Amino acid sequence: MKKVRKRVSKLSMVTAWQKSHDRKSRLGSKTKVGPPMMEEEMDQVMADSNVMESTETNGINPSDGLTVGHDSPPIQPSPLKTAVPREPTPLEFSSSGSTSAISHDPDMLEDVEEEQPPLAQQVQVVVEKPSKAEALPYTSRRSGLVYDVRMRLHVEIISRQQMEDDMHPEDPRRIFEIYKELVAGGLAYDRLLGSEGPISDHYLYRIAARFATKEEVCLFHTEEHWNWVEGLQKKTDLELFEDGMAMDSVYLHHETFSCARLAAGGTIEACRAVVQGHVKNAVAVIRPPGHHAERCQPAGFCFFNNVSIAARVCQQDFPEKCRKIAIIDWDVHHGNGVQQAFYDDPNVLYISLHVHKNGTFYPSGPYGNHLHCGEGPGVGFSVNIPWSTHGMTDADYLYAFQQVIMPVLVEFNPDLVIVSSGFDAAEGDKLGGCHVSPSGYAHMTHMLMSIAKGKIAVVLEGGYNLRSIATSALAVTRTLMGEPPDRITTTDPTASGVKTVQLVKNTQSRYWKCLYPKDIHSKDLMENFGAQRMHDVVRAYQAKMLYDEFRMMELMIIRDRLSPSFKHQVLATENFDSERPLLIIFHDPPDALGIPHPASNKLELHNTWVTDVPKLYIQWATDHGFAVIDVNVPYHVTEDGNDQGYMDTDSDEDRRLATREMATYLWDNYVAPNENSHVFLMGVGAAYLGILDLISTNETCTDQITGVISFISNQALLSVRRPTDDNIATWYWHHSLVFVAQDHAVWDPDRQRKQRKKYGKLVRSSNNHLNEMLGEASDQVTQYLTEETEDWREEQERKQPKKRKLDPSMAGAIDLREGRASSVPGTSRGSGRLPPLGTFTVPAGEAAGLMRVSPKQG
Ligand SMILES: [Zn+2]
Repeated sequence: MKKVRKRVSKLSMVTAWQKSHDRKSRLGSKTKVGPPMMEEEMDQVMADSNVMESTETNGINPSDGLTVGHDSPPIQPSPLKTAVPREPTPLEFSSSGSTSAISHDPDMLEDVEEEQPPLAQQVQVVVEKPSKAEALPYTSRRSGLVYDVRMRLHVEIISRQQMEDDMHPEDPRRIFEIYKELVAGGLAYDRLLGSEGPISDHYLYRIAARFATKEEVCLFHTEEHWNWVEGLQKKTDLELFEDGMAMDSVYLHHETFSCARLAAGGTIEACRAVVQGHVKNAVAVIRPPGHHAERCQPAGFCFFNNVSIAARVCQQDFPEKCRKIAIIDWDVHHGNGVQQAFYDDPNVLYISLHVHKNGTFYPSGPYGNHLHCGEGPGVGFSVNIPWSTHGMTDADYLYAFQQVIMPVLVEFNPDLVIVSSGFDAAEGDKLGGCHVSPSGYAHMTHMLMSIAKGKIAVVLEGGYNLRSIATSALAVTRTLMGEPPDRITTTDPTASGVKTVQLVKNTQSRYWKCLYPKDIHSKDLMENFGAQRMHDVVRAYQAKMLYDEFRMMELMIIRDRLSPSFKHQVLATENFDSERPLLIIFHDPPDALGIPHPASNKLELHNTWVTDVPKLYIQWATDHGFAVIDVNVPYHVTEDGNDQGYMDTDSDEDRRLATREMATYLWDNYVAPNENSHVFLMGVGAAYLGILDLISTNETCTDQITGVISFISNQALLSVRRPTDDNIATWYWHHSLVFVAQDHAVWDPDRQRKQRKKYGKLVRSSNNHLNEMLGEASDQVTQYLTEETEDWREEQERKQPKKRKLDPSMAGAIDLREGRASSVPGTSRGSGRLPPLGTFTVPAGEAAGLMRVSPKQG
């Protein structure tokens, strides 16, 4: 009979069923359309051969969610004739040379319209031809499967004492476990494994593996490498054992050569079948894996780089149909061999998601980091998504797909997608330590099926937990066959996953129009455009404003290293060492708040604001005659020369140490020798930790400190401890005001009672953000400062008539309250005198001579 008739017949029957089903649904039929069938249900269906025939010939996969019972909708018309074909077993597929080894499929439509399949595999169906209007758009092409039991012959040569537990993780059973799972799931037919009933066209279409030829393998590998693998056949067991031990993560066997050729040949055939349209997509269950194998050496259980060889063959054999190929590698390891193969090829896009751990995870080194993007004409066509840690979940993988992989694939627009499908990121794989679920793999597959008109070949790479790889491969294959992916339960990507993906996105934004925001070449910026990091610019601006308004100038700090971040870090009013209250504020840099451009995500200066809440405190303090030292604790200490691209905020611990170092230095050189009437320390954020360190380690500083004011949002609370002073906690409680964010863990009712006192006098803020907390607390803080300095103020008022002439800065403070202009240098502060040029009196020892006036200010 004619192919065309049969094709149409399937359409009509589905339509007939659909109508019947719709009718029954309306009538409340018992027909169930529900979750995928359990195996038992499958068996039940398989046992009922009459029903099965009706179902099969309607192109409805029993696993598609339809339970067919004896009350199934009648199929009309149903003049069925079904020839029972001979079912193939895995052993029957053998080498068939370099021509397409695909067996003939009764459903090959466009490409093989005129070919007559052998009778043995025909499923003959005759039904009436429906009218065109009733035709449903669907593909009758099946998904292909490559599996060949001979690929199990490559095994590790082990001593007899070795137990099964010592099996090498690249265990020959891996492919069989997957194959069994596909058969048990009703996706593949194998009578030896218990498949019942006749073989039919709802099963995976079997594509025979074959030996790859030398010419094919050498499209990527060197001839020397081919010869070496070939030579393994003639080596003794001892030689194989010893040679294997000397190599990078491989074991050798006499059958290694034939298995590796079969794996490569199977991959080639899977890809060819997809490209030629014999199957709609394909899964190749093969081993040994390939993605670590490099041009001239094996590595990581791999000998021939199956995927790279197949991609090269497709490029060569189908120059028109396969102009561009995308290879997605979701094995938990970086596919160094595949990246090497196409590093300079703009027609093959390689995208790999892998655990990298800063180059410490196999295959190690920087080759798999996000900065390796290809070279020459291939630049931008290698995309590495290198997880910085284990433990990645479905949500991380899907986030990477949504943010980077899918946009890039759509823009690249390949003709073929090949998946290097290791399942060692799967939940349960100890080597990978990640948590991708079967439905996570199904979702990734589903997304990739929207690319390249669905031409996708999934090729097994690693994966070492036999259960995990089987269930993952089953989920992927079901999806390839058309079943929607199951739900996923993990939907929030981890912080580390988001960071990695955003870094990749930023780097790749140079090469892909679809990715924003566009990466900046910070090296170019710094070398050619005189760019500076904004935090340095803002601090320089603050220094100028603080000089203009309060005559604050930089205190010289001797340091081991130099960094722009230390410039203007410590600013002081000129009267900081006089007999008056001193407020030292250790604070974070200002917040930059911006509204990026809606389309480009670019942050423009006119839409960006810089906060400066500590300045309000400086204003108040100087207005009230206080001296002020303002210390900016940078989020990141800029390194000269080696400071490119994105930089993380330094850790709280680093910033705490930096603050302690600074606080101790200031204390020893600029505060302890002074005659200040009162000293208040104010710590904002991580700087607070450094202040507590100072109090804990400096036995005498509390003699001079009047009070400690702290603002804590998400830092841990610290208690003050001194080995020799039991009363320090009590002192701290009496001399502190600790504002803690509303949602801080310390307010947890279970912990509150016992912990309160040693952390100082805690005040619960009604905010969580430091800036808002600072603003909210200003009345309380200024009232506290006023009350604590009452004695000094009374003393000043007694001295006032005389002192006013002698103390111009005090006069300045009074003038300010009277509303005189304060922002014009040289005219503010009563006397209007210019700032002294490096002539502050610095009391005692080494501190003398450390003072300088910043040249920019002076
Ligand atoms: Zn792997």
